Amino acid sequence: MTNPKALLDHFGVLPKKSLGQNFLHDPQALEKIADAAELMPDETVLEIGPGTGALTAVLAGRVRQVYAVELDRRLEPIMRLTLAPHANVTVIFDDIMSVNLPELLGDQPYVVVANVPYYITSAILRLLLEGKNPPKRIILTVQLEVAERLIAKPGDMTLLSVSAQFYAKPKIVARFNKAVFYPRPDIDSAVIRLDVYDAPPVAVPSADQFFRVVKAGFGQKRKQLKNSLAEGLHIDHDAAAVLLESAGIDPKRRAETLSLAEWAALTRAHAGNSSDA
Ligand code: SAM
Repeated sequence: MTNPKALLDHFGVLPKKSLGQNFLHDPQALEKIADAAELMPDETVLEIGPGTGALTAVLAGRVRQVYAVELDRRLEPIMRLTLAPHANVTVIFDDIMSVNLPELLGDQPYVVVANVPYYITSAILRLLLEGKNPPKRIILTVQLEVAERLIAKPGDMTLLSVSAQFYAKPKIVARFNKAVFYPRPDIDSAVIRLDVYDAPPVAVPSADQFFRVVKAGFGQKRKQLKNSLAEGLHIDHDAAAVLLESAGIDPKRRAETLSLAEWAALTRAHAGNSSDA
């Protein structure tokens, strides 16, 4: 018995919407996710949100070790059954945000595979990408809209796309119709692969300074950059305009139009001007 609906019914577990519990039951979709990860037999995978263990079992067949972190303890008896043949899987029942990843993984290279609810996507990306030992690549199954936000180009950039693209090269590798999930969600999903850079693709004095400027820029929705930067960086409006001009950016532009290279130029200009650089 591997069908999620049959398993959940058998163990009397009702899917929780609040935990984004839409389980993949299409074997082809599971294989597609594992294929997108291009796993090597000697690799370690950190899976976030294994659910009933359907994808976990596929991953376990392809790599040396899988660590699977699941928040919902009600799924324990199900995973005990589905993962019994896989001695190379360690399941940790905890919130991914509370797990001590350095203690779990040490400094070994690893790949993340995750099918998680939207509310936690940015927090998970921050946790993984800003840590001491980021993964080599991340394969995320998310709402199509979120995947599109992650790969956005100047004109449609958000804090999420700038953050993701500062650390990794994102690419949509598959799209899933809602019918491949149980229960069926309201929206379609996509699989996005993020290949993590060894070093950011733009030159900045530090990631902290880069994000201070980017967050200030996106702090005020639909405002011109000179206004949002003035408020976010606690400088006056004229100083913000001068800062933008010194980075070659029209002060009337809006945050969503800037490229990564322009955010980097702005960070360098700000670092050159400020005493906390
Ligand atoms: N991977 C399974 C699949 O593809 O069928 C399940 C995916 S389901 C969309 C999301 C899973 O993430 C659920 O099992 C849910 O309980 C789990 N989850 C939600 N929030 C979590 C968190 N903060 N930490 C760990 N797991 C979480």
